[in-house]
Amino acid sequence: MKLVMKFGGTSVGDGAKISHVSKLIADRRELGDELVVVVSAMAGVTDALLDVARNAATEGNVDDVVLGVHELRDRHVDALMIAADDITSRKEALKKLDNRLGELEKVLTGICYIGELTPRSMDYVVCCGERMVAPILSAALKSIGIDSVSLDGDEAGIVTNNTHGDARPLDEAYLTLKERLVPLISEKVPVVAGFMGATKKGVITTLGRGGSDLTASVIGAAMGVDEIWLWKETKGIMTTDPNLVPEARTLHQVSYMEAMELSYFGAKVLHPRALEPAIRHGIPVRVKSTFEPEFEGTLITSEVKGREYVVKAISLIKDIALLNISGPGMIGTPGVAARVFSALASADINVIMISQGSSELNISFIVSEKDAGRAIKSLHHEFKLYKHGEI
Ligand code: ASP
Ligand code: MG
Repeated sequence: MKLVMKFGGTSVGDGAKISHVSKLIADRRELGDELVVVVSAMAGVTDALLDVARNAATEGNVDDVVLGVHELRDRHVDALMIAADDITSRKEALKKLDNRLGELEKVLTGICYIGELTPRSMDYVVCCGERMVAPILSAALKSIGIDSVSLDGDEAGIVTNNTHGDARPLDEAYLTLKERLVPLISEKVPVVAGFMGATKKGVITTLGRGGSDLTASVIGAAMGVDEIWLWKETKGIMTTDPNLVPEARTLHQVSYMEAMELSYFGAKVLHPRALEPAIRHGIPVRVKSTFEPEFEGTLITSEVKGREYVVKAISLIKDIALLNISGPGMIGTPGVAARVFSALASADINVIMISQGSSELNISFIVSEKDAGRAIKSLHHEFKLYKHGEI
């Protein structure tokens, strides 16, 4: 089979785990599969990078930067020493790590002096985690006799627009990825740093939190693989959050639409946009568990045979507010909804869900709890401009 396999932050969280992942890859190689691997940053590293960057901009303390970079180096070098024992591959990876960390320290020091953190420099900083895991896993593979090469997301061909922090891969990324990766895979396993890409001009961008799922999906679609496997530390997609409900079960098959609904509604298993490229190219996606590699996980495809249950899963979004607007004046009055949502849009408030009863007596909608106060204010402002009874 031709596969893209993506490993999340917990699955590559330390040297022992990276070593485990390298063996999972070797098993598939032995079966004759051709693979591209995508990695996230080690668990907690993206958050740590965000903190160091914000701290650099607000505090401007270069010593903190040096300390932060030092801690990251320790964690990654430790992992490398445990995961890879081939001396040449170790040295090669160590050189890459030190290059990345050296550049990172310079950028963060610059942020300290300027006291400003632009979305562009933030992207440069936050994707360093994946850019360090890729060489480590590649070295681990070489240490067990699997030829491999590590690539940053942009080197692999992820060309994006310039929406820093939430960039979208452009159509031309599909061609570039195919051109660059297809010739490699019969000989070696490319390990690609997920979550990141670059604009046409080569400026680094990131794809939004959890974005390495999207990297895997774009690569899988570009190469026309048989399946995209997203390895997580959960047992596939489950009926609900197993941390809250211990009886939660794995769903063996769900449709693309069901999986998207679940991710939009707070199930943390998938990046909300990750399935789009797979859907467009009709590629099945499988959510696998690194704990139980033999377990088939959840298969996500366009059609699901035989509907066992009408309600398949329950998800939860925390910290939201339900606002209800009602009044007899709303019945049969065109334009009320338009005014409500225009007012919210002008206040830059994102609406998560909307409903209106067919009696037209009320409109309810859901926003983040943190936006609720501003939402109420903007509605008061909008509607008090009109005399009582006019709406
Ligand atoms: N490391 C990034 C994050 O924590 C991307 C990812 O894990 O997919 O959001
Ligand atoms: Mg992650």
